[in-house]
This record gives sequence, C-alpha cells and structure tokens, in this order.
Amino acid sequence: MKGAIIGDIVGSVYEFHNRRAKDFPLFSPESRFTDDTVMTLAVAIGMIKAHSTDSDLIEALSESMHDYGNRYPGRGYGGRFRNWLRASDPRPYNSWGNGAPMRCSSAGWIAATPAKAFELGMYTAAPTHNHPDAMKAAGVTAMLIWYARQGKSKEWLKSLAEKWYALPELDDIRDEYSFDVSCEGTMPVALSAFFESQDFEDAIRNAVSIGGDSDTIAAIAGSIAEAYYGVPDELWQQAMEYLSEELRHNVIEFFSYINHGNESIDGTDSNIPASSTESGEKSCNNCQLRKSGNCPQLSNELCSDYRAIPFISKEEKKNWPEHGDATAFRLGEKRD
Ligand SMILES: [Mg+2]
Repeated sequence: MKGAIIGDIVGSVYEFHNRRAKDFPLFSPESRFTDDTVMTLAVAIGMIKAHSTDSDLIEALSESMHDYGNRYPGRGYGGRFRNWLRASDPRPYNSWGNGAPMRCSSAGWIAATPAKAFELGMYTAAPTHNHPDAMKAAGVTAMLIWYARQGKSKEWLKSLAEKWYALPELDDIRDEYSFDVSCEGTMPVALSAFFESQDFEDAIRNAVSIGGDSDTIAAIAGSIAEAYYGVPDELWQQAMEYLSEELRHNVIEFFSYINHGNESIDGTDSNIPASSTESGEKSCNNCQLRKSGNCPQLSNELCSDYRAIPFISKEEKKNWPEHGDATAFRLGEKRD
C-alpha cells in the first residue's frame, strides 16, 4: 500500500522520461500521484467496505474504483479504462494490463492466508482486468506481500515467484527493456527490482532504472518491498505531501481497520478443500470465483496457477495471525 504509493509518486516523472540509472532524485516539484495510487486506495477502501458490510466484494471493488476514478480524473488512466469509467454499467473488458498488479496490494494485507491473498488479489483484478494474465499477476503479487509480511526470506520468496515468472537480471536487460504495459512484460522486471534490492529505497531505484512504465513497475516492486523491509518513515512523510487529504486519510483508515481486531477476510482456505490441497489436485469448480460466476475467464491455465501455491502444513498455520495484522513483520526483524 504505502510502498505502491511511494513507487508511483517517485516513478511518475520517469514514465515518459526514462532514467536508466539508479542515481536520480526521488521526489521533485513535478512528482505527482497517478492512477496507480488512486486505484490502490480505491481497492483498499472497496475491500474494507465489502468486508465490514458483508457485501459482494467484486461489486464493492468495482463501485469504489468507478467512484475514485471519476473523482480523480486525468491521472494517467489507459484509454479502455477511461471508457470503463464513463460507462453507466461498467463491465470487465478482459484487460491483461499491468493495472491489475499495481492496485492489488491491500489484498496481501487483509487476507488471513496466502491462498486467500492469491484469491483476493484476483478479485481486485476482476472488475476490469479479468484476463488470466492479469488475475494471475494480482494474485501472485498479493501472495508475495502476504508471505513477505510473515518474515519469509528473499530466497524463499524468489523460488515461489519463479513458479510463475522467469526473472531476469536487471543489468542484462536494462539497455533494451522497452515500454510494456502487459502483465507478462511488467511482472518479471518489477519482481527482479525487489529481489535484487538491498533495502526499500533500493527496490524503488531498481524499478525506475529499468525504464518503461516506471510508475507502475515501481508501484509493484514497492508494494512487495514494503511488506519485506518496511517503509522508511522519512520517505513516507515526503510521499504524503503529494496526496490529497482524502487519500492520506484512506491509508490511515485501511491500516487502522486491519490493525484493530477486525477479522481478516475468510480465515480458512475454503477455496481449496484440504483433501485436494494434499493431493495437489485442485478442481477449478472449488474456486470461489467460479462459484460466484464472477470469473468468466477462469481457465484451466489459471487453475494450474493455484496448484503452484505451496502446501502449508498444519504446524505452520498455527503461527499465522488470527486476524489482519499490519505489524506481523516489523522493520529489521530476523527472517528464516
Ligand atoms: Mg500510472
């Protein structure tokens, strides 16, 4: 959440003026928040509204995104998304764009289990980006955030990410990487920006240094880096200067919601029955997205993504937080 917002604001001035090096000013008078920040917060607020009122999640997310997008126009939305914002009955349009993983981070903070983080990540994509590539990207990002918050090592997280994406060495591709708004073209570099980093700020610098869609690459890398390292307070204070009063309040609202004893969304792995989890055969008919009819694009391909979620032992589950806990991992804590 905070990491996505910082990444977006820092990257905003480099999206159309790429800086293929790591020495650049993080903030400047031209920096601004863009669609990545607006949609990250629209999703977070939609998530807690649906959760607190027990209403349909995809509907609540769709309404919140529509509302925020229309109240914060001109923030760099893509053409098809602008059409979606103008529609009176907005429907998903099968986008495979990187707008899905850039806005999903709250799913990794509110979910009670990694499988639920993956599923909620896909839900955050569903109102517009219901293409399997986009739903996978949001699911993987949310799950990595979830595991990073639990203190998993970078090697462990990397081996998990490699089940879905081939990760490049940034130095090998920096000169040739070109603007690519697809999830398949964005996720590998955003993930490498995090995995090659030394600290939170370094992840943001790595992300911008690769060029291309800088604000979104930095938003995705920043959202995972936040969960892994924590966000240095001075960077967050600077970023907040660029936000509207409402958006600043939304961040506080989200973290206070998950920090004050509100049960996180669905504390069970109900989407994956225990028997099939153990055998490794997960039927797509068990998925909540399919059951609710909200995922017309759900395919065998996506179901095989579910199979890559690691098997979790009962012993490991004992250590999971009982409810959403934004402080599950603290800055500087030792990792396994
Ligand atoms: Mg943007």
